[in-house]
Amino acid sequence: MVQQGLSTFAEIAHGFIDSDRLKLILFAAGVKPAAFAALKIDSMNLGEKYRFEQHLKDIVFVASKARSFEEISKIEKNKIYWSFNGVWIGYDLFNCYHGLKQFKEYVKYVTMQNHDKADRIAGKLYGYPDCCVENFIKEHDLNYLKEKYTCYEYYKRLHDSVRRFPFVFHTPCSKNCTATAKLNNLYKHALKKTAPKFYKEFSRKKSLKTDLIIDAESDVFDKNRNTIWPSKDGHEYPTIARTPFQGHHYLYAYLTKKCYERGTVLGSKVDMRYNYADIKAYKTKDAIKNLMHIRKFQALGRKF
Ligand SMILES: [Zn+2]
Repeated sequence: MVQQGLSTFAEIAHGFIDSDRLKLILFAAGVKPAAFAALKIDSMNLGEKYRFEQHLKDIVFVASKARSFEEISKIEKNKIYWSFNGVWIGYDLFNCYHGLKQFKEYVKYVTMQNHDKADRIAGKLYGYPDCCVENFIKEHDLNYLKEKYTCYEYYKRLHDSVRRFPFVFHTPCSKNCTATAKLNNLYKHALKKTAPKFYKEFSRKKSLKTDLIIDAESDVFDKNRNTIWPSKDGHEYPTIARTPFQGHHYLYAYLTKKCYERGTVLGSKVDMRYNYADIKAYKTKDAIKNLMHIRKFQALGRKF
């Protein structure tokens, strides 16, 4: 049964990022068995906590304590200033009590650092394909990981996955995974049917011309904090957009064969669609020395 009230609320509420909006709509459509979403509350949407919980009256859920979050408020010379913008509450929704029980087990195993067991439970709970869960677990082994992929291949595969399967939330075992393709299709159609406006907006290409500031490179580290790829054939950099998009300075992941110093400023065009951004960097404009983030609170997110 489609929970249309919840779906409509998820579609229009101010406090959700798009990927959480998507999860809630799919949950409300009855195709996703469990979902986590963070509701951000600031001065613009003080009533949304109450309204969201009204829609959850007949749903099994747990809500976290409210935690603060920061957003980039200004960028000046080498300093990225973050400021307190509001609070967020994490909601875990389940289609039955058994889901909540599984979730508690999952959290228990994460706390015990038994990640293999935790991931198998999470896979069942969230409806991820078994082949992808088993592959994900195999890739916990860093020796296996570095044998399987070069640095560029590792990130390329993640970038390719979100482009090929923009409606799923797990890491597919390969780009040819038929179970993932099936799930992606199921989610796409459910979204199109129950939330057509959001579907249109989510799939629409949005472009932004901006300078991007290269931040510290993404990497995979071993226990001793050494990279598992000492010689790199490519790089993934988080980049910070100098020009805001819809009022926010977004961070975009940039995958490239070129090597850039932290603080390099690239004149770029960013094409956003679904949950990813394609970046065309056309010119190196500047080099910022000693780039630093000025922030007080933890980033939005949690360990499990
Ligand atoms: Zn798979």
